[in-house]
Amino acid sequence: MRKKIVAGNWKMNGSMELLNTLVPALAEEAKQSQAEILVCPPALYLGDVQRKAGDHLLVGAQNCHEAQSGAFTGEIAAGMLAEMQLSHVLVGHSERRAIYGETDQLIAAKTQAAIASGLVAVLCVGETLDERESGRTLDVVLGQVNAVVSQLGLADWSRLVIAYEPVWAIGTGKTATADQAQDVHKAIRNALADYGQDYADAMRILYGGSVKAANAEELFTCPDIDGGLVGGASLNADEFISICRAAN
Ligand code: 13P
Repeated sequence: MRKKIVAGNWKMNGSMELLNTLVPALAEEAKQSQAEILVCPPALYLGDVQRKAGDHLLVGAQNCHEAQSGAFTGEIAAGMLAEMQLSHVLVGHSERRAIYGETDQLIAAKTQAAIASGLVAVLCVGETLDERESGRTLDVVLGQVNAVVSQLGLADWSRLVIAYEPVWAIGTGKTATADQAQDVHKAIRNALADYGQDYADAMRILYGGSVKAANAEELFTCPDIDGGLVGGASLNADEFISICRAAN
């Protein structure tokens, strides 16, 4: 039985004011949740969020650099995140692929760096509207998954989570239907089975893209959907807590 994960990606949103109200509420919720609850605020807030998170709420970063250290102004190494007791880091978010030109090769290197540092990497994959409409969804998504997992040893898989986030559903209010999402999640799991069935069965695959309280339960009850990666709706305590409860 895979334990569900509900993750909030604040992106470049939030403030100390939001943090001071939202994080204690999530820390409380995490104590009784059957799912893992993870919050990924902007890097500057990680320390404060961590101090308020208590023993149950997980805290992760939104990005890391692939090198251990060096002359990379403005960047943060995976080892530094681990040193601060953070548990997770997002890698390959579609905004980083599209806006900052991150390639599959770079994302594979970041994933390896994260896992080697003891973090759990949340690998984000997903197709654009154009790619979906031209029938290339699975080519694109499985290509993104394979580019990373082919570089990992099977022992690393326990430190990997995959998040399927169709680009056309992010921030648009246009959620993939539960069937559309389940089809892609199942295809990802089938592709992972080429490496090892038990490992594929154990992989948590999250759905992201306009997840809200109103659609979370339908998505999370699909057999291959193991929780969600939530953007906009993770900035509102009531809404995000409702989504977390849909995973119980
Ligand atoms: P929204 O939930 O705002 O669509 O964002 C999804 C996302 O990109 C999470 O990483």
